[in-house]
Amino acid sequence: MSDEPAATPAKTVAVIGGGLSGSLFALKLSRARPDFAVIVIESGRRLGRGLAYGACTPDHLLNVPVSRMEVGLAPRFADWLQHDATARAAMVAALTESGGDLQSAFAPRALFGDYLQARVSEALIRDGGAGLSTMRGEAVRLRAGSRLGVRLADGRDIDADIVVLATGNMPPRAPGGPDAWLYDSDLFVPDPWASDALAGVRTDDAVLLLGTGLTAVDIVLKLEAAGHRGPLLALSRRGLTPHVHAAGGAWPSFLEEALPASPRTLLRLFRGQVEQAARLGVPWQRVFDAARPAVPAVWRGWSLAQKRQFLRRLRPRWDVHRHRMAPRVAARFEAIIDSGRLRTAAGRVTAYRRFVDAGGAGVDVVYRGAGGEGRFAARHVVNCTGPRRDIALSGIPLIADLREQGLATPDALGLGLETEDGALLDHARRPSARLFALGALTCPSWWEIVAVPEIAVQVDRLAAKLANDEATPDSHPLAPEDFLDLGAGI
Ligand SMILES: Cc1cc2nc3c(=O)[nH]c(=O)nc-3n(C[C@H](O)[C@H](O)[C@H](O)COP(=O)(O)OP(=O)(O)OC[C@H]3O[C@@H](n4cnc5c(N)ncnc54)[C@H](O)[C@@H]3O)c2cc1C
Repeated sequence: MSDEPAATPAKTVAVIGGGLSGSLFALKLSRARPDFAVIVIESGRRLGRGLAYGACTPDHLLNVPVSRMEVGLAPRFADWLQHDATARAAMVAALTESGGDLQSAFAPRALFGDYLQARVSEALIRDGGAGLSTMRGEAVRLRAGSRLGVRLADGRDIDADIVVLATGNMPPRAPGGPDAWLYDSDLFVPDPWASDALAGVRTDDAVLLLGTGLTAVDIVLKLEAAGHRGPLLALSRRGLTPHVHAAGGAWPSFLEEALPASPRTLLRLFRGQVEQAARLGVPWQRVFDAARPAVPAVWRGWSLAQKRQFLRRLRPRWDVHRHRMAPRVAARFEAIIDSGRLRTAAGRVTAYRRFVDAGGAGVDVVYRGAGGEGRFAARHVVNCTGPRRDIALSGIPLIADLREQGLATPDALGLGLETEDGALLDHARRPSARLFALGALTCPSWWEIVAVPEIAVQVDRLAAKLANDEATPDSHPLAPEDFLDLGAGI
């Protein structure tokens, strides 16, 4: 194979979505196969950023250290951070916090976006229209003939031999609840990541955040950075907030030998390991890190009923232990709580009452346990329930089209699309040789395919498979063992 892009590409691969997954995949495939045309279709302006690394302020930090953000590109993220002048300036606080150790520093999230975007720009310039290229627009339909075709919302149409869906995180869904008038009013912010989401929030406005997870933490910090000083109430059913990272210690892998095991058995096992770790002075975080590579195997070993049981009963606690805050983020969040402006609580909204004159809503809340009842006068209600997963109900045109044509099948738990080694399963559960998916869409097969290390493994496997013309399923199925070298510290 020559290193020069061919005049007529050996294959055209359309990648729908240019966030981390789609951009990284396109970079890797176009590097491995300069004779392929790899076209990234992205509805947003900037490639490589997506939701996570796009709309963030300098206070939004990566929730894993630099060492865990390497995705196999040159230069490495750590090297780029050291050599890019703007990045160096933006890393001062992170390096102070980590005692000067770059690998264990929690960098601003926007820097990872800058890094990826720069890699894509370099590749686009290198390829000059052949090899890697991009189209700005929303893909809305797929044509499945002898060749595939992708239709964009603006009417453009492209042919492709292979289509890879990397459409990523969906905006949150409006929470079901009382007094639906609120969701149709301008008091409600349905998507906290929309560019204008917090535009109408004035300095002293009271804000109700629905959710107490990482999204709520993000929004609180964003409001703080914008000078907001009004009262904040973050509410969720259990009121659990993410835990914080802790450095140091090591813990051996322990989960693999316990499989298969029910969710309840695993809960007992985790408790036992955490107690042992505490006795030895090892942070419990290392126990979760040690378990992480086995997560896909655990998930795949469960029956549908066990998966349901986990999602209903254990997931909230799993999430706050697994998806943690960088220490500096936690310190800021706690300082806002300590200042008395932010309250996090377990409870549920029972009514939203219109304040006609004051232009807000009286939110009636029943707090959990002995918390009693209360009313919070909110000028804004921000949906911080996290990305929606129920793709089947989302009404996204491309996904609806794929389903109508029988080319994609949502899973029974409403987590994403059914895939086998990245290939979409059709209505008869046959794996496609031409349609693939990456990232959040493939959650039903892996459960946790959200963070950079897992996505990077998945991207590498699919790029290698397609580069070697092994589009047929089963060539080298991505297996739980592939995640074993993810390492600790995440
Ligand atoms: C706020 C936040 C913070 C995070 N922080 C971290 C972290 O610190 N460390 C970590 O490891 N992980 C983190 N993650 C998790 C992870 O890195 C991201 O979820 C990851 O970026 C997912 O990338 P993606 O490309 O799959 O999806 P997205 O980032 O959602 O990108 C998908 C892209 O597809 C485009 N798109 C969608 N549909 C279409 C269509 N029909 N046509 C054209 N374009 C389309 C969208 O515009 C978007 O740009 C974070 C996630 C979030 C949400």
